[in-house]
Amino acid sequence: MPSLVEPYAAFFAPEHHAFESEAAAFASRDGARGDIHARVRALGRAGLLDAVGRGDVRTLAVRRGQLAYADAMDDLAFIVQELGGFPLERAGAEPELLARVRAGDAVVVFGMTEPGAGSDVAAMSTLAERDGHGYRVTGLKHFISNAPEADHAVVFAKLDGKIAAFLVDAPATEAQAVSGHSIGRLVLDAAPARLLAARGGALALGTLERCRPTVGLAAWGLARHGFDETVGHLKSRVQFGRPLAEQPVVQSRVADMALDLEQAALAALWACWTRDVTPADQRTGYMSAVGKLTATEACGRVLDQCVQLQGGLGVEESSLVQRLWREARPLRIYEGATDVLKTVIAERWLG
Ligand SMILES: Cc1cc2nc3c(=O)[nH]c(=O)nc-3n(C[C@H](O)[C@H](O)[C@H](O)COP(=O)(O)OP(=O)(O)OC[C@H]3O[C@@H](n4cnc5c(N)ncnc54)[C@H](O)[C@@H]3O)c2cc1C
Repeated sequence: MPSLVEPYAAFFAPEHHAFESEAAAFASRDGARGDIHARVRALGRAGLLDAVGRGDVRTLAVRRGQLAYADAMDDLAFIVQELGGFPLERAGAEPELLARVRAGDAVVVFGMTEPGAGSDVAAMSTLAERDGHGYRVTGLKHFISNAPEADHAVVFAKLDGKIAAFLVDAPATEAQAVSGHSIGRLVLDAAPARLLAARGGALALGTLERCRPTVGLAAWGLARHGFDETVGHLKSRVQFGRPLAEQPVVQSRVADMALDLEQAALAALWACWTRDVTPADQRTGYMSAVGKLTATEACGRVLDQCVQLQGGLGVEESSLVQRLWREARPLRIYEGATDVLKTVIAERWLG
């Protein structure tokens, strides 16, 4: 599998080579991979979840690049443990649960989005109320990755009018259908909950700032896989008496795809590096937005070209590139849709 660490060595420290190699070995394992629980367990046993909540962002990034190249569901199993685990680490709460998350023995999810509050998180209507020494949370979260198999959910809800973060054990769930993704609703009906952080909005923001740029490297993994397969196709597919790879217009398209892949990796890795070298109490939302938007849009263009260059084969249901295109499409929507990230970027310059 192609490396991110070798061509972009300036962003990395020596240990990132090993972190990437471990992920590559895991991603190319033999045998049935199973559901999210099985994948999380396998990731934990392989030591790839050690960094949950405490590793640097570049480690998440190189692991995502390898996992996504091989199997989008492995990447999903990996990163959702981080989305749920980082708030636990940052809140300094639930150390035993965090150890189980890192060992792959518990699936934890990140519950923010609601039917009436997607991009506009502040509009959320899920409410928390005090109940003796604990809390109860009532509301509906939807499009929550890995929810159908969640053992625990970090849930954001309003307490006294402000967004706070809670932990709900064994949440009630309903499955939703997004191809290539495990996803569902959290149905919270006065669910018993423990408070993780009264300043839940800041906790959510910190989690997304950390995970957002890594979405760009997951996109890179998917797009690079499609690109590699397409290059092989262009060299062997003969039309008009010669391989497609010898057509100047095809060569121009391949150059454009390579430029998009380079741009994606550079922008996303720069954003990861920025987060890593910036003190935890300082925000890097601008660079996270730039990295995620640039990389996911560029990789979307690459996969669209892959489909185009494989002709009818590219849209056949069994084709790799159409599957990769479908798997990459939600990356431009979740953790900040492209247009919403543009508002973050514009705000920096326009106020
Ligand atoms: C596969 C997948 C996995 C997900 N996993 C999770 C998860 O684990 N946890 C979680 O909490 N959520 C998750 N989500 C939800 C995701 O974060 C939301 O879908 C996303 O924030 C967008 O919200 P929405 O779908 O309600 O779209 P809306 O907010 O309705 O936005 C739709 C579109 O409107 C436009 N738009 C919206 N606001 C603006 C604006 N201010 N300016 C310009 N244009 C705008 C954009 O084009 C945007 O794409 C997931 C979603 C998907 C698809």
